[in-house]
Amino acid sequence: MNVYDSEQIAIQLAATGYHQTASLEKADLVLLNTCTVRAKAEQKAFSFLGRLARLKKKKPGLIVGVGGCVAQQEGSNILKRVPHVDLVFGTRAIDRLPALISKIEEKRCRIVDVAMTEIPDLLDPAPARADDNLVSRFVTIMRGCDNYCTYCVVPYVRGRETSRDPDSIVDEIKMLVDAGIREVTLLGQNVNSYGKKEGLLSFPELLARVQTIEGLSRIRFTTSHPKDFDQDLIDAFQANDKLCKHIHLPVQSGSNRVLKKMNRKYTKELYLDKVAKLRDTCPDIAITSDMIVGFPGESDSDFEDTLDLMRKVEFDGLFAFMYSDRPNAPATQFKAKISEADKSERLQILLELQNTYTKRKNEALIGSIQPILAEGFSKKQSSGSLVEPNQVAQWTGRTSTNKIVNFYQSDLPGSCCEIIPGKIVHVKIDQAYAHSLWGKPVEIEPTAAGLKGENCYAA
Ligand code: SAH
Ligand code: SF4
Repeated sequence: MNVYDSEQIAIQLAATGYHQTASLEKADLVLLNTCTVRAKAEQKAFSFLGRLARLKKKKPGLIVGVGGCVAQQEGSNILKRVPHVDLVFGTRAIDRLPALISKIEEKRCRIVDVAMTEIPDLLDPAPARADDNLVSRFVTIMRGCDNYCTYCVVPYVRGRETSRDPDSIVDEIKMLVDAGIREVTLLGQNVNSYGKKEGLLSFPELLARVQTIEGLSRIRFTTSHPKDFDQDLIDAFQANDKLCKHIHLPVQSGSNRVLKKMNRKYTKELYLDKVAKLRDTCPDIAITSDMIVGFPGESDSDFEDTLDLMRKVEFDGLFAFMYSDRPNAPATQFKAKISEADKSERLQILLELQNTYTKRKNEALIGSIQPILAEGFSKKQSSGSLVEPNQVAQWTGRTSTNKIVNFYQSDLPGSCCEIIPGKIVHVKIDQAYAHSLWGKPVEIEPTAAGLKGENCYAA
């Protein structure tokens, strides 16, 4: 969500004549887009802001702005807490940024704008990006959330759930595809409830429309709430050949007692049943999840239920978090808080268990040939730091199941083919690590007739 917002911020700034720089020292304007979902993210934001004090001293004309969820939640408190901040803009103020910034440039004043207004559709035909990923983009299909899980701050900082009009979503994706994008990830806090309030299309119907966009190779989405995840979406994985074989289905806990206190509205049994149905229809699908350890009152036996669920599901990957109190979230008032030491111990146990599954699942891919969407050179390579003088380009991309695969162009047999970002490259996996796979390219998707790369294949 924040990556998408940052892109929209960059688009708004480009319209006012600002362009991105990789050097903080050279910047005339620094905007920090923040997240407040977990306490740690918020602490990081304030510590970064603190470090900007020195820069502002050296360069008094520098404009410092704070946006996103922390800005929405804290508003003018940020101006009090951080004297060198000039602008606080909320989650629904991105389209007003050009006006806010020119006012600060003109009057050298300090502004707070956290009004929860309607968000107009922000569209740009060829959006600029900070990184080099010209292949895959996020597209927001919904904003806000109505679920009010008791630990979560999102409904308070992002507002009520609203779905975007399907025509506008499709138009945005078409523009992205025209600009060279091959993969989109549809974003919402709970995509399963897309369009329900407004009486628009259902989410599987939206997927079916997006599937028809010519030139688009892959569709992903996140996040799916287990309580609303149903057979229609399971069937979409079979019907929709552009839909990647991966679902992020955050479970949060394996204990029914804790799930109830979290207001998640499903049980462990229901979750396991949905996973079984999903795997029945789509056996190769990768399932990842989010888990919170140390929710107030979580007993050893509740935690054991979580481990039991993990043993039953064997997730492909897991994002695990230690519970933290968030302002406005009801669980902040819940008694029987778990100590930091116990939370940390539970997190370790959980991560160790998960690592065995992640490793096993990655190893199971050794020897298989996976279609990879080539995204570009790997991060290490593009930063230049680890590249030997004569080293060949190290490519990176993802499997349909969202696993990172690295490979070398030079391993591709035959010299006629050139890997370019956005190509589907068939890679034979030969090494599996904790967070990535390595392989050798064996075939590249044919390009248009007559172009370099056509008919390139080696068994
Ligand atoms: N809408 C998504 C989640 C968005 S927040 C969903 O319903 O799953 C991303 C993740 O942050 C959550 O899934 C949860 O695991 C974690 N999280 C949210 N609030 C938290 C808190 N107070 N403490 C620890 N983790 C939290
Ligand atoms: Fe937060 Fe729950 Fe909404 Fe996800 S569904 S954003 S966890 S309130």
